[in-house]
Amino acid sequence: MSASESGTSDMIRFDRVVKRFGDNVVLDELDFAVRPGQRVTLIGPSGSGKTTILRLLMTLERVNSGTIFVGGECLTHVRRGDQLVPADEKHLRRMRRRIGMVFQQFNLFPNMRVLRNVTEAPIHVLGRSAQDAQRQARELLEMVGLGDKLDAYPSELSGGQQQRVAIARALAMSPDVLLLDEITSALDPELAAEVLDVLRDLARTTDITMLCVTHAMKFARDVSDRVLMFDRGKIIEDKPPDELFEAPEHERTRKFLRSIL
Ligand code: ADP
Repeated sequence: MSASESGTSDMIRFDRVVKRFGDNVVLDELDFAVRPGQRVTLIGPSGSGKTTILRLLMTLERVNSGTIFVGGECLTHVRRGDQLVPADEKHLRRMRRRIGMVFQQFNLFPNMRVLRNVTEAPIHVLGRSAQDAQRQARELLEMVGLGDKLDAYPSELSGGQQQRVAIARALAMSPDVLLLDEITSALDPELAAEVLDVLRDLARTTDITMLCVTHAMKFARDVSDRVLMFDRGKIIEDKPPDELFEAPEHERTRKFLRSIL
């Protein structure tokens, strides 16, 4: 492989990534990189490959060819002797810990109280002590404005509160990268605004790298430094949000923005 195998200062890097489902080429030699601490939003029409990018990073899908790096380390391949081979499950499991993901549908454990939702993985996956995990979980839940809901069950919370627990739960694993997939689209505007506030604070007070897929342009504007516009698996614009929204270069982008505003 290329010299890049030895590492990169990018937090996320896709090198000529191809992803197909049957004959459907979803990503066609896609290249892009995200620097540490950047907040990047992916926009574009439905089916343009945005979620597939997050799923590849979460190792829920495998590339057909090309390479993905996370934190300077190769996600997709490992070295065997003098050959690079597709990563095995052990490598993927280790790499997955560097990445936190929040989904549209919260996916909290319904039978566990809020505090335990947040401590479960740090204790069982990272081997933290219950005491440490609880201390950290309390801090995170305080940060997302839920310090008074530690003993509630998810079903007792609003959608916005559940989503904030999901953010705390992802952060409890101390990931380098936070992936956010349409996390406000199942919420009423008021509840979506609460979640947006939390992310805005997070962006202001931490240096976590964020990659978001969203149709909420306010979210893209308020939280991100860069917006990548996708069309059929390719990036057709890559700009700071104000520039992209105020002066889109491509007719395809203008049409997309008109369709969602
Ligand atoms: P977006 O997030 O931009 O809406 P996706 O990444 O979800 O787009 O999907 C891109 C394309 O990949 C679509 O054509 C979709 O039908 C296809 N696709 C995604 N996941 C699968 C899958 N598991 N099996 C088959 N096709 C899939």
